[in-house]
Amino acid sequence: MNTLFISDLHLSEERPAITRAFFDFLERALPGADALYILGDFFDVWLGDDDDAPLSRQVIEKLAEITSAGTPVYVMHGNRDFLLGDAFAADSGATLLADPTVIDLYGEKVLLMHGDSLCTDDEAYMAFRQQARSPHFQKDLLSRSLAERREIAAGLRQQSQAMNSLKAEDIMDVNPSEVIQCLNRHGVERLIHGHTHRPARHPVELGRNTGERIVLGDWHTHGWCLKVNKQTYDLDSFQI
Ligand code: MN
Repeated sequence: MNTLFISDLHLSEERPAITRAFFDFLERALPGADALYILGDFFDVWLGDDDDAPLSRQVIEKLAEITSAGTPVYVMHGNRDFLLGDAFAADSGATLLADPTVIDLYGEKVLLMHGDSLCTDDEAYMAFRQQARSPHFQKDLLSRSLAERREIAAGLRQQSQAMNSLKAEDIMDVNPSEVIQCLNRHGVERLIHGHTHRPARHPVELGRNTGERIVLGDWHTHGWCLKVNKQTYDLDSFQI
């Protein structure tokens, strides 16, 4: 039995191969799994739960198959799909997770984050993040028509090269002291996150002990998955 962690699939109509790779992954990896955690930027953009785009409906139906068959699915917001809401959760059967969340993973307390909040050196981004996560901003956005929201998203993409790009060089990496503070604040020694598109396992010096930061990869030429069981953490990649 194992628990699976993925993030940063950036599912979009423009990259159907990624959606296919996700569905193949589910068929291959999910049987026998205890749970699936999706740690943000599952969708490249989410304009609201009322979005009737075929991709959104297709993915929701797939998640509903999994959850109704008894495997729990947990979804955390990323910086691109922060508008995933209660209707998405109800329709898919997935549980939305706050960022950060501490879970009990086979007896160990582990911290889960999307990862963007750790990139504190990127001041412009942190300001945008604060705005995007505010209930007022989200309510205002969701009060607009779907057509208008599509225009706003397209405009944002044109404005910002960084928003438009999936390259790691354009996303600042995490601030190391912010990582240590987070681990200490939550009283844990292990953190799993995505966002930076720099998949790796990093030891983190915590004074008395050495902790670990595991970074999930974005799905592009390869897909990434962290498989955890009682004994091991296995960060795995496969060709798409
Ligand atoms: Mn992200």
